Amino acid sequence: MSNTTNEKVRCLIIGSGPAGYTAAIYASRANLNPVLYEGMQPGGQLTTTTDIENFPGYPEGISGFEMMEDLKKQAMRFGADIRLGIATASDLSQAPYKITIDGEKVIETETLIISTGATAKYLGLPDEQKYAGMGVSACATCDGFFYRKKTVAVVGGGDTACEEALYLASLASLVYLIVRKPFLRASKVMQERVMRTPNIKVMFEHNTIGLFGENGVEGAHLVYRMGEEDEEKVDIAIDGFFLAIGHTPNSGIFKEWIETDETGYIKTVPGTPRTNVPGVFAAGDVADPHYRQAITAAGTGCMAAIEAERYLLEKGI
Ligand code: NDP
Repeated sequence: MSNTTNEKVRCLIIGSGPAGYTAAIYASRANLNPVLYEGMQPGGQLTTTTDIENFPGYPEGISGFEMMEDLKKQAMRFGADIRLGIATASDLSQAPYKITIDGEKVIETETLIISTGATAKYLGLPDEQKYAGMGVSACATCDGFFYRKKTVAVVGGGDTACEEALYLASLASLVYLIVRKPFLRASKVMQERVMRTPNIKVMFEHNTIGLFGENGVEGAHLVYRMGEEDEEKVDIAIDGFFLAIGHTPNSGIFKEWIETDETGYIKTVPGTPRTNVPGVFAAGDVADPHYRQAITAAGTGCMAAIEAERYLLEKGI
């Protein structure tokens, strides 16, 4: 880590999803003069989703992008200092804590709110790398447009996979939903929507083992009932391959100091956003393997800012 300390702040927020922006709204209204770094994906995962229909207060739904723009504006209105930049290293050995931004600038902070979210998982096939940007994607709303009237596959059986399949079905002529189990894990309402969409073909008990194509994805090699006696190889012709198999929490740069569970989710004191390091709080998906909703992320972002305010008050900082 560089030793150049450029700046000292009272409250640093890393990440710009609903957790980070909500923390920024509360922290700025409490006069903590928060600085927020937006990270790799300004606005977070919701900027790549379609409509958000389950956030209270939006009876007609709202686009993820619009909601995040509104949250950002709301935080800025109260004076939050929102900046582009990625936290690349941390030293939480003692307060004030040091966070390196973009590998060069070091910020010293009395309180830290980690709201770095989670990142889409891939299957780990070499072909996913080979065809990166040539037909493989983990974001239907980002890339779906390229597959109008084409055939695509979505891998996964949860709410994300169903959402992506439904979105793609509105553009593509045919969507395969490749599910490794004999059932979908998604909520009932999503399952029903998928099942009544005529151009979605659900392929239960199928695993993807590879992709093929000359100048981009032209198809996928699947195995039906992999490992069973009646296992069968199946090839499908597709133009695009979308991953929707869950997420990994973005806690890597804090792991030396902050306790996480075995999959990397930051452990917090139950019912609070407190981590094992005093003055360091975690909010949103980075600390939430269970709910992962915009509303719960916003809730924990609010809690983290209130905790930061109380911590500073107690310390007289
Ligand atoms: P989930 O963890 O719920 O689902 C992941 C899916 O991917 C499962 O079907 C899983 O299969 C499958 N999967 C995992 N690894 C592999 C693999 N290697 N090969 C094949 N399939 C694999 O993740 P989601 O992202 O769907 O959802 C996360 C959370 O966000 C959930 O709580 C969900 O309810 C919520 N959410 C809510 C939405 C909404 O309300 N509108 C929209 C999107 C998400 P298996 O079942 O076999 O484990």
